[in-house]
Amino acid sequence: MTQALVSQFDVGLFDLDGVCYLGQEPVVHAPESISAAVGMGLKQAYVTNNASRHPAVVAAQLEALGIPAPADSVVNSAQVGSQMLAEHVEPGSKILVLGAQALRDEVTARGLVVVESADDHPAAVIQGFYPEANWADLSEAALAIRAGALYVCTNLDKTIPRERGLMVGNGSLARAISNSTGVEPLSAGKPEPEIFQIAAKMLEARSPFAIGDNLDTDIQGAVSAGMPVLHVLTGLASARDICLAPAHQRPTYLADDLRAMLEPYPDSGGDGPQAWVGEAHARWTGSAFEVGTIGDDDGLVRRLGADPVELNLNQYRSLALSAWGAADSGVSVSEISAALPEITVSRDHE
Ligand SMILES: [Mg+2]
Repeated sequence: MTQALVSQFDVGLFDLDGVCYLGQEPVVHAPESISAAVGMGLKQAYVTNNASRHPAVVAAQLEALGIPAPADSVVNSAQVGSQMLAEHVEPGSKILVLGAQALRDEVTARGLVVVESADDHPAAVIQGFYPEANWADLSEAALAIRAGALYVCTNLDKTIPRERGLMVGNGSLARAISNSTGVEPLSAGKPEPEIFQIAAKMLEARSPFAIGDNLDTDIQGAVSAGMPVLHVLTGLASARDICLAPAHQRPTYLADDLRAMLEPYPDSGGDGPQAWVGEAHARWTGSAFEVGTIGDDDGLVRRLGADPVELNLNQYRSLALSAWGAADSGVSVSEISAALPEITVSRDHE
């Protein structure tokens, strides 16, 4: 494989936080890498669980950071949730919306009627992230659900990242309603596969791939949608987290940052807990991981201990394959975890 990884695909479904931006700042190498990928013919979409902001607002924010984002390139869970609602209820049905104006607009755009009270006998309740929600709003939704309304959430994120840390997310607010009603919601957001499938359909994708930072939303969702997925280390999950990922949360491609999608992806192979990627190799000895470069003397093979290590990109990739192979061949997660130090992935020594 000598072509850029991205040339295998026609559409990229990018996550936002930790992939495109972090707070108010662009993620390192994101603007120029996405611009270059688009220049090579990739169609880009930005797929977000956040249902509280209009897609056009998000697109404008990306553009301001130097990331190419046409107004219709943002797909959020309000769009997908409203689409799910429309597939479950009759056209013109009444919907109790617990969410921001952006969500109410999406529901209306699908020919459904927004109502304010359980006394209006809504056919469904849809709940999106809505910082203004209070006890009365949650109770109104609970009354409607108890009376038989379908319960849909735009996403079930437990937390939402803010400048000061992790705040209470939509999924945690939804717990209050499902606790009090005994009814579990359908969810439109990651890690459910629908958001990837509907976004790919909206873009008429033939060979889409996803790009994300978060194992239990982006990666799990793409895997369950059957879509190849590239992981970048610029957000939530660390290199060590990747090595410890369970099978349903393992990315197809491992990267440090978005530059890797413009580069050829190396060949790889191996046998269980022995793996090689490009020129790098890693293996599980039965009690430790060893990482090295093919052709090096044994003396240059590093045995990982408790101290943090710095690996190059292919060494990291081979270590992850080795750790997954070890887990799949019966080595316990606690044993693998104990053998893995903190890992920094660096291009400095290549
Ligand atoms: Mg993210």
